Amino acid sequence: MSAISLSGVDLCYPDGTLGLAQICLDIEDGEFVALVGPSGSGKTTLLRTIAGFLNPTAGTVSLGADVVAGGRRSAPPEDRELGMVFQQHAIWPHRTVGRNVSYPLEMAGISRAQRAARVSEVLTMVGLAGFERRNPATLSGGQRQRVALARALASSPRALLLDEALSALDEPLRDRLRLELRTLTRAANLTVVHVTHDRAEALALADRVVILDGGRIKQIGSPEEVVTQPASAFVAHFLSDANLIEGIVEDGRFRSIGHQLCVGTDRVHGARNGFGTIAVLPTDIELISPVDGAHTDEHGIVMSSLFGRDSSDVVVTSQGMDFRCSVRGPRPSVGDRVGLRIRRALFYPDADTDDEATASVLSAVSAHR
Ligand code: ADP
Ligand code: MG
Repeated sequence: MSAISLSGVDLCYPDGTLGLAQICLDIEDGEFVALVGPSGSGKTTLLRTIAGFLNPTAGTVSLGADVVAGGRRSAPPEDRELGMVFQQHAIWPHRTVGRNVSYPLEMAGISRAQRAARVSEVLTMVGLAGFERRNPATLSGGQRQRVALARALASSPRALLLDEALSALDEPLRDRLRLELRTLTRAANLTVVHVTHDRAEALALADRVVILDGGRIKQIGSPEEVVTQPASAFVAHFLSDANLIEGIVEDGRFRSIGHQLCVGTDRVHGARNGFGTIAVLPTDIELISPVDGAHTDEHGIVMSSLFGRDSSDVVVTSQGMDFRCSVRGPRPSVGDRVGLRIRRALFYPDADTDDEATASVLSAVSAHR
């Protein structure tokens, strides 16, 4: 049985905005799932639907064996036994850290002695042992976020829901809290749904990544799967900044539309005759200096070249089309003329061209030459 299960969930806001469409998602006990997607893709809506702040228009939400939303039934958030942390640490400024963390336990009628023991335990878990009497105003942003996390953990929730919980923090701190969050949730075998717009964070932390767009799930998979086998050109672009090039596959080659680029289908995974889009990862484009004289697919001019720790992030313009490339070794200079060679591309056929229409266009194209 899944810890969290959504089946056929639709959510339409009262003003008619589509929040979620046909969401099916099973999250296992102890699993760490990251929800990613562009702004407005429905990440917060999905999290709030699990939490019970929003009710699905259709479908069901279950937590373990309990159906918490579906049909006319809907359990209120306080009955769902979930812990939540938001981007803006909603901790009370006039209460001590200890009172902040013990609040949910007070609400649940836990005795003072038991509360004190539990507060001390969760503060230790988040690296704030002995902070009970501190005033939140004396804490850093990262420490306040740890307090919010401790409060969410205090009543031993069956899952932790995090909405951009680390996004407001500055870099070295965010990095550290990220690692600690992963370590502590793994040690406690906690089920976590972590919403983030940060792709790197999602890939680094999650057992499985869910990619949302327009309220729909575009792909679910392990970080390795979603990066190496993106289900669509959108996913390849969103997760890996893949270059998307529209064109047509015929006669064993992919030819782009409005550009001279031509790539043999031996290098195009999933190629099949017809119109479609190829996705080329920045790491799959090789830049070749013209003096090397090696075969290239295209030539272009370096428009920008940014230093990166592992590789430079280079944009090459060729016939009005920009190619984003990840270059290891010496960093090219802006203005350099370079050759481009595509090592590998992924082909996604157009969904809306049926085979007959494609065949007639293909024959028209070849008759023209
Ligand atoms: P994300 O968290 O991925 O940025 P949201 O879940 O906040 O996205 O929003 C998903 C979509 O629902 C967006 O189009 C957003 O404008 C819309 N939306 C969010 N909240 C409301 C609301 N209260 N009423 C109407 N539309 C909303
Ligand atoms: Mg959001």
